[in-house]
Amino acid sequence: TTSQPVASPTSAARSFLARAGKLLIDGRFVDAAGGQTFASVDPGNGEVLAQVAEAREHDVDLAVAAARRALDGPWGRMSPSERGRLVHRIGDLISEHAEELAELESLDNGKPYTAALGVEVPLSADMFWYMAGAATRLNGASVAPSVPYMPGQEFHAYTVREPVGVVGQIIPWNVPLLMVAWKLAPALATGNTVVLKPAEQTPLTALRVGELLHEAGLPDGVVNIVPGFGEAAGAHLAAHEGVDKIAFTGSTEVGKSIVRAASGNLKRVSLELGGKSPNIVLADADVDAAIAGASLGIFYNQGEVCSAGSRLYVHESQFDRVVEGIAQHARSIKVGYGMDPESEMGPVVSREQHDRVGHYLGLGREAGGGATIAGGHLMDRAGYFVEPTVISAPHADHPVVREEIFGPVLAALPFSDLDDLARQANDTVYGLAAGVWTSDLSAAHKLARRLKAGTVHVNTYHVFAAELPFGGYKQSGWGREKGDEVLQQYLETKSVVVAL
Ligand code: NAD
Repeated sequence: TTSQPVASPTSAARSFLARAGKLLIDGRFVDAAGGQTFASVDPGNGEVLAQVAEAREHDVDLAVAAARRALDGPWGRMSPSERGRLVHRIGDLISEHAEELAELESLDNGKPYTAALGVEVPLSADMFWYMAGAATRLNGASVAPSVPYMPGQEFHAYTVREPVGVVGQIIPWNVPLLMVAWKLAPALATGNTVVLKPAEQTPLTALRVGELLHEAGLPDGVVNIVPGFGEAAGAHLAAHEGVDKIAFTGSTEVGKSIVRAASGNLKRVSLELGGKSPNIVLADADVDAAIAGASLGIFYNQGEVCSAGSRLYVHESQFDRVVEGIAQHARSIKVGYGMDPESEMGPVVSREQHDRVGHYLGLGREAGGGATIAGGHLMDRAGYFVEPTVISAPHADHPVVREEIFGPVLAALPFSDLDDLARQANDTVYGLAAGVWTSDLSAAHKLARRLKAGTVHVNTYHVFAAELPFGGYKQSGWGREKGDEVLQQYLETKSVVVAL
């Protein structure tokens, strides 16, 4: 492991850090009305990266008012083609600023720069490129109504799809830039205006994107960005009477409070929440591929992925081999400062998250019947580092099997019977993702049918293409993001019926 940054940020990122820290309201970067700020901290060393203006209720009110005005402005009259080109241009600008955005993302979240640059920035740009094409395809249908109580009357009827209006968006800290893309791209392609609240741990890339939106030519007020805390800015946005829809990504617990807050004006709600996803290795799987895929599934992004494959079920005939293979991989991962190009895993995002993961590591060391066979400890060094951890055969009811840890901690369990396996895999309040490793095509598809999860990966894991709907069954959420499915979350359908 390494402890020092070996690559310091380029001048573009440094100059952003020097000017960062305002709210974006109505096309202008402004201080919070009350002048409050909070620190954005580098989790790799605990140092302050920037002081950021902290939006509170009044700032959110101003942002919502700006978003409302923008709906009636040039944005509302823009042709779909023009809107699509603008959304496309945002993707271009993200791609053109890839290195700078990846640096800011690595500094703010802790993740390896190489992952931000190689995976998350390209996925973010692609989300805008994909959604750009949707702007001109928001077609309705022509409908032939049957109206038995108006005999002889003919009708012409059609549906039109219109933006919901002012959308509030609240996002988490694990993949901050990608969350901005997943939220903004469909909202803009469908013609809405937005008030976006980034996570308090990671406001920087959202604010940099705010500058790029201006450069792309987005009219003032169409996107407003209000960094701040959940209980103040977030809760106020969720409850706001001037907001027509709230899109939330975060914990299941806060998701439930969003639903309650949204009930005041019955705003539309979509939710992407937590997970405890099963990754399943059948007896006939390609063992090396399964070891590599299961490792990626739990260790990518320090395990801070809502769809992480955090419960591993391996057929008993392969259990020792697969679990030892993953443990060996875990021990070999280079954990270090995100900006170090050698680092394969960075720190977790915050002291709070470090404590949280540490709590589960402690429970894991005492796992009834199980054993921690790799890692198992917080790392004793500056920054919030955690050892990649594999816990072998804990009891099925143990908290490390049942609760979302959101860290690099894998719980591995053996199985013998497929029916019992399917029952165990689905025995969770969550239903975000799953993985199946097998060389038997029929077994894969049969299991895919039985798994109650929004995404089932077969012989792969963590595929996040813009075209594929993503979201959860059960308490993992409401609705889907990405793909064409997300568009309906940002549209109202109007039926127009004409008597001929
Ligand atoms: P969190 O729910 O605490 O915070 C997420 C966001 O909600 C932050 O912006 C926060 O400021 C805001 N928030 C907090 N309290 C709020 C309140 N009372 N009202 C309104 N907003 C509030 O979650 P977290 O711990 O920051 O993120 C980790 C969680 O997010 C995990 O459970 C993870 O599974 C989930 N997640 C889900 C997805 C997905 O797509 N399903 C993606 C990433 C993360």
